[in-house]
Amino acid sequence: MLLKFIIIGLLFFGIYKLFGGKLLPTTPSQKDVQNMLECDTCGTFVSEKDMIRFSGRFYCSKACKDKHQG
Ligand SMILES: [Zn+2]
Repeated sequence: MLLKFIIIGLLFFGIYKLFGGKLLPTTPSQKDVQNMLECDTCGTFVSEKDMIRFSGRFYCSKACKDKHQG
């Protein structure tokens, strides 16, 4: 009788191990969430890969970069 419970327990454990990580609400991984940065000139939030970095500042476009620098 006890063996039956152990087998059922192992089955649930196996299912939990297989699907637990996917079924449970997990915090979104940093890779999925695009890092949004604020443009130094106009304040628009742009994803990190789209924005222009220049001398330690961030700009949403070349126009903003030029405008900020005068
Ligand atoms: Zn801008």
